[in-house]
Amino acid sequence: MELQIIRTQHPKQKPAPGAKLGFGKIFTDHMFTMRYTEGQGWHDAKIEPYGPVEFDLATTVFHYAQGIFEGLKAFKNEKGEIRVFRPDENFKRMNRSAERMCIPQIDETFVLNGLFELLKIEKDWIPTEPGTALYIRPSIIATNVMLGVHASKEYLFFIILSPVGSYYAHGLEPTRLLVEDYYTRATIGGTGESKCIANYAVSLKAGEEAEKKSFDQVLWLDAKEKKYVEEVGSMNMFFVIGGEVVTPALVGSILPGITRKSCIELLAANGYKVSERRVSIDEVIEAQKNGTLDEAFGTGTAAVISPVGMMEYKGEDYVVNGGKMGPITKWLYDTITGIQSGRLPDPHGWVVRL
Ligand SMILES: *Cc1c(COP(=O)(O)O)cnc(C)c1O
Repeated sequence: MELQIIRTQHPKQKPAPGAKLGFGKIFTDHMFTMRYTEGQGWHDAKIEPYGPVEFDLATTVFHYAQGIFEGLKAFKNEKGEIRVFRPDENFKRMNRSAERMCIPQIDETFVLNGLFELLKIEKDWIPTEPGTALYIRPSIIATNVMLGVHASKEYLFFIILSPVGSYYAHGLEPTRLLVEDYYTRATIGGTGESKCIANYAVSLKAGEEAEKKSFDQVLWLDAKEKKYVEEVGSMNMFFVIGGEVVTPALVGSILPGITRKSCIELLAANGYKVSERRVSIDEVIEAQKNGTLDEAFGTGTAAVISPVGMMEYKGEDYVVNGGKMGPITKWLYDTITGIQSGRLPDPHGWVVRL
């Protein structure tokens, strides 16, 4: 398939260097789009000017949420080199999500190359201040115009780009989590391990209630027993308990994060004891009470590593590490952001350089 490139005649004003970017509020001049039609496969791949697209209100995705997405980041160093963190992993995961949601598979190499072309065109949009990045959002949505609960026969794949600052308004300040023991996000056999748009819709209610009580995020427990820790809003969870770094095993209801995987690989390669296993909330609370809960943190592309300073469970507050970021959390943050930016070597070959 050929990739058509149509350049904008009306480039937008880019944010001034050092401007506060926030997260996902500004979009670049171009986007990558590609259509799917049953019987024909993927076609009409283009890089074209960024802008609104018109949809019939009977379009499948608006009614039945047949849609998936990804999130990854690109960086630029002083030499002007574009650096993309593990993009192959994102498109592999996108195909796994597609399989679960009855969406046709994409050619991972083709879309990866399309992304690289798009990044080269949008190079001047990649911010360079510490903590900033160009956030990349690939998505696939079902575009059949038809009311009827069936997998769509037509799809739109797109990639849009957004220069971003830190995900949380207060940067690397430790977050406050509310352990949710009523609402659930995902069940085994459901869609928790696929990055589908509906997973977020079902999480909003608990998130809003937590925000009202001035928590930053919800910590989800397993749906069946409300006993085991699953993950946070858009992050996987890690605890350091008595020297062991523990993260919940991928049992089917947890999103397999690429930052999570990178942390496990880094910890193991550097001699830390790291385990993927079931972790009950009681084990975490018990460790906090007896002084062996050394650290807690979340991992995800948007925030990278986010220290947890406090958790509330059944009305009780549990402070972690005196409300401060712990040494393993800090080491992981520095190491991953160092590899991403090029400040540190990349021994695992995670960064694609353009
Ligand atoms: C995307 C996501 C994560 C983090 O995955 P990364 O690949 O590390 O960005 C964690 N949990 C949920 C629910 C997610 O959607």
